[in-house]
Amino acid sequence: MKRLFLILFSLFTQTLFAQNYSIVIKGGHLIDPKNNIDGPMDVAVTDGKVALVARNIDPKGAKQVVNAKGMYVMPGLIDIHGHVFQGTEPNNYLSNGPVALAPDGFTFRVGVTTIVDAGGAGWKSFPAFKKNIIYTSKTRVLSLINIVGEGMRGGAWEQDTADMDARMAAAVALANPNDIVGFKVAHFQGPLWTPVDRAVEAGKLSKLPVMIDFGGNVPPLPLEELFLKHLRPGDIFTHTYTLLEGNVREPIVDEETGKVKPFVWEARKKGIVFDVGYGGASFNYSQAIPALKAGFYPTTISTDLHTGSMNGSMKDMLSIMSKFLGMGMALPAVIRAGTWTPAQVIHREMLGHLSVGAIADVAILTLREGNFGFYDKTGYRVEGKKKFECEMTIKGGRIVYDLNGIVHPIVVQP
Ligand SMILES: [Zn+2]
Repeated sequence: MKRLFLILFSLFTQTLFAQNYSIVIKGGHLIDPKNNIDGPMDVAVTDGKVALVARNIDPKGAKQVVNAKGMYVMPGLIDIHGHVFQGTEPNNYLSNGPVALAPDGFTFRVGVTTIVDAGGAGWKSFPAFKKNIIYTSKTRVLSLINIVGEGMRGGAWEQDTADMDARMAAAVALANPNDIVGFKVAHFQGPLWTPVDRAVEAGKLSKLPVMIDFGGNVPPLPLEELFLKHLRPGDIFTHTYTLLEGNVREPIVDEETGKVKPFVWEARKKGIVFDVGYGGASFNYSQAIPALKAGFYPTTISTDLHTGSMNGSMKDMLSIMSKFLGMGMALPAVIRAGTWTPAQVIHREMLGHLSVGAIADVAILTLREGNFGFYDKTGYRVEGKKKFECEMTIKGGRIVYDLNGIVHPIVVQP
């Protein structure tokens, strides 16, 4: 009798749970690199979390059912290099100025659920960033705060070593652990290691990584010294595949031999993170093609999103992912570099995967076939046959973008 009761009770609860799913994504091809899944798999979501991942989930009773047939389902994309501290201050460049973009207009439509503002806000301006952008955005917005207190205001502001305070930066980071994931160094033109060393010091005080936009130093500082002497394992080198005008920054691929420099391999072995940070001027096919041919893939794929890059050759996260796919990077590796790996790099291991119980941030993409043109800032153009397009984005269990109405019923958010 007791046994029968237990069986009936278990059947009852199963039915109950089946009816409780808020969303069931049916018929897609799931790529979840953390869990080594690359195959047909349904995903059920309840209460903002992943409730079940299984070959065939009964959608009966679910509030909404997504038809993902022929599509790739994956964790929501994580862009660790964006510029979203948008504001109206004149002459403020990427710190509360109009060159930065409001995140929600540029994230969900390309599968991005988490974006990290890379140094727009400094340790002084972070409160304004938190109030104006983090609190008001639906996108999950995080920050690598600038070692310059005033943030990325451009020009002379970013040359002021007196404003690069490791203790203050670390204190602001430690006071805002939900929002700040590390520190940023950029645009310094002096012949000194001061900005890098102050950021690393802040990183040591708060146990967080630093992201370095290197170059522009006059005279140039050696890249080998940056990787092997100044940075720690887990620190991020962004703009990996750039070749700058006038060689103001040493490139990773030797222009004469076309080979990735030996110390760059050594840096990778040490644990330096090689981030794309595509941007307006920070990606050259002449660096990326030989690097990828030699197997030097990016650790993380990111945009360096701002008004210039998005209207230039960069466009968006999916355009960059399509370029790397076209250069021979395997599909699951491309997805990993935009999901699970960036989550680990910014110490947000609760993101970037679809384990049961994880936050239900999901991107559903199609890989369109056709004739596409991919080019870089120099005008070098590559023909491509495949291009990612975002069909749907789910953030925290809610559908926030649906290109073609693939869910039933469609519930349009006001
Ligand atoms: Zn940037």
